[in-house]
Amino acid sequence: RFEQAEVMGKLPEQFFAKLVKKVSYYVEKGYDVINLGQGNPDQPTPQHIVDALKEGADRPEFHKYSPFRGHGFLKQAAADFYKREYGVTLDPEKEVAVLFGGKVGLVELSQCYLNPGDVALVPDPGYPDYWSGVAMAGATMETMPLRKENDFLPKYDELPETVLNKAKLMFLNYPNNPTAGVATESFFKETVELANKHDILVCHDFAYGAVGFDGQKPVSFLQIEGAKEVGIEIYTLSKTYNMAGWRVGFAIGNESVIESINLLQDHFYVSLFGAVQHAAAEALNGSQRCVDELVDTYERRRNAFIGRLNENGWNVESPKGSFFCWLPVPEGYTSETFSDYLLEKAHVVVAPGIGFGSEGDRYVRAGLLTSEDRLIEAADRIAKLI
Ligand code: PLP
Repeated sequence: RFEQAEVMGKLPEQFFAKLVKKVSYYVEKGYDVINLGQGNPDQPTPQHIVDALKEGADRPEFHKYSPFRGHGFLKQAAADFYKREYGVTLDPEKEVAVLFGGKVGLVELSQCYLNPGDVALVPDPGYPDYWSGVAMAGATMETMPLRKENDFLPKYDELPETVLNKAKLMFLNYPNNPTAGVATESFFKETVELANKHDILVCHDFAYGAVGFDGQKPVSFLQIEGAKEVGIEIYTLSKTYNMAGWRVGFAIGNESVIESINLLQDHFYVSLFGAVQHAAAEALNGSQRCVDELVDTYERRRNAFIGRLNENGWNVESPKGSFFCWLPVPEGYTSETFSDYLLEKAHVVVAPGIGFGSEGDRYVRAGLLTSEDRLIEAADRIAKLI
C-alpha cells in the first residue's frame, strides 16, 4: 500500500540476521552452543563509568535537552584523550563531533559527501555499514581487496587510475574487522599522499583503536602529518570501555567535515542524554587501567584459542589487534558452508567471511568474546571435525 522510497531497495541485505536465526534454532533445541560469531563485547562496562552514569542521572540539568552538538566537557574530554593517547592536538569545538556510536557517523559521512553516481572506496572484506551508507546516498562502491599477502592492507598501486580519479570518499579500518590486520605509519602516510593526489576524503574507522597485542599500540590516522587536511577518524567507546549499548562515539579531524556532520545531525538529533555524556567523559578522563586489563584479557584469550587450534594441527595466524581471528576455511568449503558445518556438527558459531565481502569467502571470523575455557573448548570441538 505504501510505496517505499527507491533507496530502500538499494539497502544491502542484513547478512548476519540470517546467521542469528540459524543459531537460535540450535539454542532453542538445547544444544551447548559456543557463539564466536558476534562482535558484541561480553564484559560489563567498568564500574566507575556506571557510577558516573548513576550520579549524572540524579542531576536535573541533565534531564533537559542536551546542547545540540553535545556538552563542551565531553568534546574537551575527547580532545584531551587524543592528546594524551596519540599526541594529537584537536580543537574540541571545531574538530570533534559527538555521535550516537560510530556506526551512525559512518553512514552520516556518506550522506554529507556522496551524490548519486559518486564513487566511494570500501575495503573488501569490510564492516558492512560502509556499504549501507554508500547505498543510502545512491552512490556506488569500488572495493579495495584486503589480502593476507599484503598484511590485509589495500594495495593502492593496484587500484585503477580511473577509479582513483572518480573516488570521492574512502573508508579504512585498522585494527581491522574482520581480518584483524593492523596499519603501519608508512601505510597511513601513503594514504595521505594518495588522498592529496586524487582529492579523496579519508574516513579511518578506529573502532578497535584500543586493542593492540604484544605491546603494540595501534596507530591513529590523525598521528600522521597532513591527515587532518584529508580526513577524519571515527572513534567509539563501544569496544574500548565495553560500552556498546551506550551508543557513544566521535568523529574527529578535518574541521569542514566535522562541521558537515554536525550540521546534518542538527536536523536529526539533539545530542545524547546528558548523564551518558557525563559518564563517557569519565571513561575518557578517568583511569585507563580498565583498558589495559581489557587488552590483557583479549590477549590471553587469543593465546588460548589460537594456541589450541595450532596444537590441534590447524595452523592459523595470531591476530595483532582487534578481538577477531580470521580463519582460512579448509579446501572444499565456502565461508558459509564451513560456518554451517561448524554450527551443525560442533555447535560453534563463527561469522562467514562472505558477509564482509566476496574476498572474505575463504575465511570465517571468530570473536574472542567468551572465556578462555570456552574458547579452548571451541578449538577442541573444531579440531575434532577438521
Ligand atoms: N566500525 C567497526 C569496524 C565495527 O566493528 C563496529 C562495531 O562492531 C563499529 C564501527 C560500530 O561501533 P559503534 O556503532 O558501536 O560505535
